[in-house]
Amino acid sequence: MPAVTLITGAASGIGEAAVRLYAGRGHRVVAVDVDEAGLARLDALDGVVTLAGDVADEATNTGAVALALDRFGRLDAAVLNAGIGGAGPLESPGAIERFDRLFAVNVRSVALGIRAVVPALRAVGGGAIVATASVSGLRGDPGTWGYNATKAAVINLVRAAAVDYAAQRIRINAIAPGLTDTALTAGHLDTPALIERIPLHRWAGPDEQAEVLWFLTSPAASYITGVTVPVDGGLSANGGILPPPSGR
Ligand code: NAD
Repeated sequence: MPAVTLITGAASGIGEAAVRLYAGRGHRVVAVDVDEAGLARLDALDGVVTLAGDVADEATNTGAVALALDRFGRLDAAVLNAGIGGAGPLESPGAIERFDRLFAVNVRSVALGIRAVVPALRAVGGGAIVATASVSGLRGDPGTWGYNATKAAVINLVRAAAVDYAAQRIRINAIAPGLTDTALTAGHLDTPALIERIPLHRWAGPDEQAEVLWFLTSPAASYITGVTVPVDGGLSANGGILPPPSGR
């Protein structure tokens, strides 16, 4: 019986790359996103069903699991990837409302997602969950306080949940993407100062993030739980105090 994976934030960027990779490797996929038009692009893929909804709502998460069980009869893994950026200066009007929305979409959704999928994973004897955090959750970036706080929260939520569910053979991990070429980062792509700070000296493609999501949900990662894997071209390893080596 083919494995079944639930993927959120599926209509664009890293999530869309993951849907195409998992489906291309024979998984059945439940693809969830708030963007109905974007999801329509995935309808033609073999073994993919789509669900439009806001991941900050519990009903979207429980509905996605119900759809997996109804259409495919089981659920083996979940990639909780949906996220938004931005908050603006801390003292700007509306900053706290935007902060609350960031936490709802980036953090509450991960808690709701884990809560919704674990009964289905238990029913098949265990499984794997991966959340998409960010290198922005590992340290502070200028003007990004709200987003940084949400991604740090995801990293520790994953640690704690991994400890809670390990005995049930459910592994829970995260990836911390560095700068990745998606709609979220459009407009920053040609900023030479950013590229200069990345030891591999280029952006990631969304496929490079999807490959690590795949690994972490696969049996090859059977002894890995509670970690966040930076997929960042060395960005988080770089202290940044000294100029980059010459000879590039
Ligand atoms: P993206 O904007 O291309 O894709 C994000 C997807 O999430 C979109 O399809 C969007 O419609 C969906 N989404 C947003 N809010 C939603 C909601 N409330 N309910 C359901 N779906 C919702 O961006 P991406 O870069 O592919 O981002 C994917 C994840 O990667 C995010 O969690 C983001 O924070 C994280 N990330 C991205 C980068 C990067 O450089 N692109 C770096 C670090 C982390």
